[in-house]
Amino acid sequence: MKLYFTCPKRQKVFGTSDYYLRDSYHINVSDTGEKKLIGQVSLKSACPLCGEFHTYNAEEVNCSYGQ
Ligand SMILES: [Zn+2]
Repeated sequence: MKLYFTCPKRQKVFGTSDYYLRDSYHINVSDTGEKKLIGQVSLKSACPLCGEFHTYNAEEVNCSYGQ
C-alpha cells in the first residue's frame, strides 16, 4: 500500500510504498472501537526530495493524499 509522507526538509509530500514499520509499533483500540496505529514508520529507500532516510510517527502518515 502506498503511503504519503511529508519531507521535513522540503515540506513537500511524496508517495511511496517503500517503507517499513518499526518493531515497536502496536495497534491501540479505543473504547469506541476506533483503531489507531501507534509507532514509527521508516523509509526503506531514500527520500526522493532530499535523499535522506526519514522516520515518522504513524499518526503523521497519510493513507491518501489530501486527507
Ligand atoms: Zn526528505
